[in-house]
Amino acid sequence: MNRTPLVAGNWKMYKTIAEARQLVPELVRGLKEIQGVQKVICPPFTSLMSVKALLEGSGIHLGAQNLFWEKEGAYTGEVSPTMVAEVCEYVIIGHSERRIYFGETDETVNRKIKAALEVGLIPIFCVGETFDENEKGLTVSVVRRQVEAGLQGIELRQNGHGDVPLLVAYEPVWAIGTGKAASGEFANEVVREIIRPALASLFGEKIAGSIRVLYGGSVKASNAAEFFEQTEIDGALVGGASLKADEFIGIVCAAAVI
Ligand code: PEP
Repeated sequence: MNRTPLVAGNWKMYKTIAEARQLVPELVRGLKEIQGVQKVICPPFTSLMSVKALLEGSGIHLGAQNLFWEKEGAYTGEVSPTMVAEVCEYVIIGHSERRIYFGETDETVNRKIKAALEVGLIPIFCVGETFDENEKGLTVSVVRRQVEAGLQGIELRQNGHGDVPLLVAYEPVWAIGTGKAASGEFANEVVREIIRPALASLFGEKIAGSIRVLYGGSVKASNAAEFFEQTEIDGALVGGASLKADEFIGIVCAAAVI
């Protein structure tokens, strides 16, 4: 199955507009020559418009880190799918930090994914088990439940290029921001044995085989190749290392040579 690699940077709650204005031109310069990999950056809401202007013509895509599922209304502090889609092509949904700190559940994640797809946004749907769940041998049940519940009631179709407008990011919570990445082999096994079969049971083998699945959790330029050489891993969702131009460029380079 030919799936175009994709590397997405999740800036989390980092970078003011002024800081983004320094980082983005470095990324644009460094990523210009790297072909065969889709590149996405997901800054905080406040710098989306400035970053969008700086990315014009660069081939680097823009994503948001969250949205609310309602179309509009009295929801102070929230941003609607249509508002996000005015500016971005991608949106991260169900990141473990949102599940842990902001009470997001499989049900709210599912509503957000549906709302994103309705307005043509491409969700980067995050799943992954915690350290305790991993220790207790619950990885299979947790990740399967997250995939099935998060994508319940959703219909997906391939576009003319065979692309499916959804990415799944396998992000073991114990590997996020800890410097302790999963091994490439372990991450590949989770995708092969849990995520793709769950996708196949929801959407059929063909669509499941076309959905790109990223790995996330302490990816950096020096360990990225270990993930990209795995058969089931189609790229990375990168947090901390996406805040440094040389690191992010190094990761995209690693995805390009596999
Ligand atoms: C993330 O925020 O999705 C992430 C994977 O973070 P980090 O790369 O810093 O572990």
